[in-house]
Amino acid sequence: GTHSPGTRTWLCGVLAPPELQEKTLVLVKPDAVQRRLVGNVIQRFERRGFKLVAMKLLQADQGLLDKHYQQLRQKPFYPALLAYMTSGPLVAMVWEGYNVVRSTRAMVGDTDSAAAAAGTIRGDFSMHVSRNVVHASDSVETARREIGFWFQRDELVAWESGDQDYTYG
Ligand code: ADP
Repeated sequence: GTHSPGTRTWLCGVLAPPELQEKTLVLVKPDAVQRRLVGNVIQRFERRGFKLVAMKLLQADQGLLDKHYQQLRQKPFYPALLAYMTSGPLVAMVWEGYNVVRSTRAMVGDTDSAAAAAGTIRGDFSMHVSRNVVHASDSVETARREIGFWFQRDELVAWESGDQDYTYG
């Protein structure tokens, strides 16, 4: 065809503006890996149009989770949360796009899966607060910090998405 990569000059050809580069951390938690839900979760974010910029499967250790869940370390459920989050591998991902932090929280649903709306990831795939399938950063600032806990700077891939002019106006 005529569309070799070098001829796509009608696409923006420059880095996306900053508001299109907002990033969030999503974890597909160990229950979801065991239940083979990884693909389902990824598909939701791909379908929405967000851009995957980092992803890995790993076994988290307590040190990492203590940083990630700094705010929750005094909670009575924290030991159970640690046991859950270290019970098997999880998938860590960074998604990028316009308003991605807020949109992703809306797609994920209520922390308590029992209260999560149908159509959300938690509402569709889970029933109980202690096994709620995914994590998503709750603010742009939290996302920045959390991405730093889970990824090295060079594990984030900046790539130009060919459909950007069709995803955004
Ligand atoms: P979210 O993950 O929706 O941002 P929180 O930051 O409040 O919610 O809690 C972090 C995680 O801790 C939850 O996703 C869930 O896995 C766990 N958690 C929160 N509350 C409880 C609870 N009451 N019992 C067991 N686990 C809980």
